[in-house]
Amino acid sequence: MRPPLPAAAVVLFLLPFAARGGNPSAPFRDYPITPVPFTSVRFTDGFWSRRVDVNRSVTLPHNFAECENTGRIDNFVFAAGLKQGKYRGYQFNDSDIYKVIEGASYSLLAHPDSAIGRTIDSIIVFIAAAQDSDGYLYTPRRLIRPDYAPPGGKERWVGMKDGSHELYTVGHLYEAAAAHYAATGKRSLLDVALRSADLVCATFGPGRRGEVPDHQEIEIGLCKLYRVTGEEKYLRTAMWFLDQRGNGSGHELLGEYAQDDRPILEQEGAEGHAVRAAYMYSGMADVTALGGNGKYIPALDRIWRDVVNRKLYITGGIGAAGRNEGFSGAYTLPNFSAYCETCASIALALWSQRMFLLEGDAQYVDVLERVLYNAILSGVSMNGDAFFYPNPLGSFHGAERSAWFGCACCPPNVLRFIAGVGGYAYARRGDDVYVNLFASGKGTITRPGGDLTITQETRYPWEGEVLISLAPARPGEFTVSLRIPGWATGTPVPGTLYSVLQGAPAHVSISVNGTPTDVRPVNGYARIRRTWKPGDRIRLLLPMPVQRIVASDSLEDDRGLTALERGPIVYCLEGVDAPDGHVTDIVIPDSSAIAHEFSADLLNGVTLLRGRGYTAERTTGGEVVAGPLREFRAIPYYAWAHRGKCEMTVWEARTIARALPLAAPTLARRSTASASRGLAADALNDQLLPKSSDDESVPYMHWWPHKGTTEWVQYDFPAGQSVSRARVYWFDDTGQGECRVPASWRILYKKGTDWIPVENTSPYTVERDRLTPVSFAPVTTKSLRIEVQLQSGFSAGIFEWTIE
Ligand SMILES: [Zn+2]
Repeated sequence: MRPPLPAAAVVLFLLPFAARGGNPSAPFRDYPITPVPFTSVRFTDGFWSRRVDVNRSVTLPHNFAECENTGRIDNFVFAAGLKQGKYRGYQFNDSDIYKVIEGASYSLLAHPDSAIGRTIDSIIVFIAAAQDSDGYLYTPRRLIRPDYAPPGGKERWVGMKDGSHELYTVGHLYEAAAAHYAATGKRSLLDVALRSADLVCATFGPGRRGEVPDHQEIEIGLCKLYRVTGEEKYLRTAMWFLDQRGNGSGHELLGEYAQDDRPILEQEGAEGHAVRAAYMYSGMADVTALGGNGKYIPALDRIWRDVVNRKLYITGGIGAAGRNEGFSGAYTLPNFSAYCETCASIALALWSQRMFLLEGDAQYVDVLERVLYNAILSGVSMNGDAFFYPNPLGSFHGAERSAWFGCACCPPNVLRFIAGVGGYAYARRGDDVYVNLFASGKGTITRPGGDLTITQETRYPWEGEVLISLAPARPGEFTVSLRIPGWATGTPVPGTLYSVLQGAPAHVSISVNGTPTDVRPVNGYARIRRTWKPGDRIRLLLPMPVQRIVASDSLEDDRGLTALERGPIVYCLEGVDAPDGHVTDIVIPDSSAIAHEFSADLLNGVTLLRGRGYTAERTTGGEVVAGPLREFRAIPYYAWAHRGKCEMTVWEARTIARALPLAAPTLARRSTASASRGLAADALNDQLLPKSSDDESVPYMHWWPHKGTTEWVQYDFPAGQSVSRARVYWFDDTGQGECRVPASWRILYKKGTDWIPVENTSPYTVERDRLTPVSFAPVTTKSLRIEVQLQSGFSAGIFEWTIE
C-alpha cells in the first residue's frame, strides 16, 4: 500500500481515501503546500455563507433543470438506446453534465442531501449505459444522423482539429468521478471514468496516436484519477499530452489558439483561448507537483509574469478578445469590448491556487482574491440563477445575465467553483499554517502535530479588521502565515500593470494577545512563529481607504483614467445611479474626496462609494467643457446589472480630456434615432467618434447578425427641417467579426408617406476610418433615412451620422 493520501486533498484534489492499486513502491509526491479542504471550512459571514447557500439551493437545481430542459441529459439517454431521439446541442454538451455532477458532489460533501444523491445516481445510470464496452464515451458519435455529425463523423479521435472536444469532455468526467467518489464512496461514476481513462491511455502516447486535446482539461482530470488510484499511467499520459503540444510530431498543429504552436517549454507568454490556456497551466502545475518534475516551472513562471504584467484586467479577468475568446497582444485590454469569460476567470483562480501551492508566494493568492471578488462573482447573479458569459469593464447599453446559454460552459463552472470556495481560505505546510482569505467562520486544519481550529471574526471585504482565534489540540510551536494583501501594501496586482495613485499605503498592524507584533511580510506573508496555545488571539488590521488605481502608461485603453477600489473590491459606476442615466461622461478629479458607507439595503448589503465629479459636455461649437459638479455613487463591480440595463463603467476619466462627453444639442442630437433592427440606434447621434472603424471603445449601432440584407437608420426631427449634407462613420471589424462597410448606401427623405431619394451632388463613397460625407440638393422634411445595402455574407454598423 502507498501511504494514505492526506485528508486535506479533498477540496481541490479530492481524495481523502487511501489509494488503491498503482505502484506500491512509488513515493507519494504532491504540492509542497496542502490546501485545507472546504469540508473543513465553514463560513458564517453574510457574504460567503450567503453565496454558498444560494449556490446550493438555487444554482444547483437550476443547472440540473437546464441540463434536463435543453436535452443534455437526453443525449445520454438516447446514446444509451434507452429511448429514441436526436442529439441536441453542441458536440461538447456532455461536459456540462459532468461539471454539474462535480458541483453537486461538492455540495453533498458539505451538505448531505439524499434527494440530490438520488438525482446524481439516476444520471450516472444513463452515462454508464452510453459508454461503449471498451470505455469510449462521447454521446455525439453514437447519435450521428444525416443532418448532424460531430467533427470527425463516426470515426473516433479524428475531429480534434475541428473542435470535437472529445478529450475535453472526458476530462470533466474524470473530475466529476473523483468528486462523486469522494462525496459518496460509490464507484458507479468512478468505474466509468477509469474505463474511459484506460482507453485514452491505451490509445494515445508514444508509438500510439499522437493528437493532443483541442481543448485542455483532460490533464487536470487524469491527475485527479491518479490521486484516486495511484495509477501511474494516468499521470504519465497527462504529462505526455502536455509534452506533445506544439512539438509537431504525430499530429497537425492546432496553432496558437489552442496553445499548440510551439512546445510548452518554449512558450513565452499567455496566448490563445483563455480557458484552454489556464486549464493547461493548471494541468502543468498538477503534473509538476505529482510527478516531482520541475521542468514546467520556468514556463509557468514566465507565463504568469506575462499575464500579470501585460494581460490582466483590474477585475482579475483574462482573455480580452471575443474573436478567440482569449488573450490579445501585450497591453491590449479594451474595457467596453472586454470578453473576460466567466470560465476564464475561474480557470485563472484554479491556476493561481496551484501556483501558490507550488511556490508559497502570496502574489498568487492576491490574484486569486481579485478574480474571486470581482470577475468571477460578476459572472453570476446574486440570486444564483442568471449568468454572464463575457464580463466587460464598461457597457454603453447595459447587459442582463442569462438563465442559460447554448454553449453553457459557464453556469456549471460557477456551480462547482463556488461550492468549493471555502477550500481557498487556509493551507498548511507541515504544522505551519497559511491564512489566505478572510471571512468569518471556522476552519479545522489536520496537521501532523495535531488538529488546529482557526476562528475568524471579520466584516471583510467591507472592513479590514480580522480577529483570529487559534485552538490547537495541544500547545506547540509552529508558524502562522497571515497573508498581507497586496492592496494593503500599495501593490494591488503583482507586477507593473496597476498602481495606487495617491499616498503611501496605510500601516498594517498585527497584535498577538494584545501585544503589537512587528510585521515584515516575506513573500506577502507576515509569519508569526511562537508556541501557540488554545485561546491565543491575533488581531490583523488592514486599513481600507478608498484607492484610486491607475494603469501603466503602456495600457492605452486606461490612460488618463482611474478605477476605484476599496480592499479587494473593484468598483463601477452605473447609469441607474446618475440623474441622466449617463456615467461614461463623468470626470473624477484626483482632488475630489471619496467617502464610503455601508448600505445594508442595497444589493444584499454593500459598501458604496460617494464623491463629486463633473460631466464633460460638448458645445454646439464642438468644444468640450466641464458641466456642473454632481455627486456620483459607485457600487462593487460584481453587483452590476442587478437594477436594470444601464450604462456601466469601471474606469473613469481623471481629466476632461479623457472623458466621453455628453452630446451637444445639434439637430441630429435633437432627433429621434431608430433603425430597421432597432439595435443601439442612440449611438448614431452621441457625437463620439472612434479612432478607427474597428475601435469598440465608443458606442456604435449594428445590424449583426443580419447579413446581405437592405437595412436603414432614421432620424425623426422635432419639426420640419432643411437638410443638404450628411456624414457617416462606418463600423467595420475586419479581422475580428462579421461587420464590413456596406456595398452601397443612399439617403431618402420622407414626403407625405413616401420615401424619396435625395438628389446627391457628391458621390456616395464608402470608406473606413473616417466620416464619409455626401451633399445633396436641400430637402425640407421631418424624417431622413440612410438606406444601406449590406455586403453579401456580411453585416454592417455605424458609429455616427451627422446632418447639416
Ligand atoms: Zn464559459
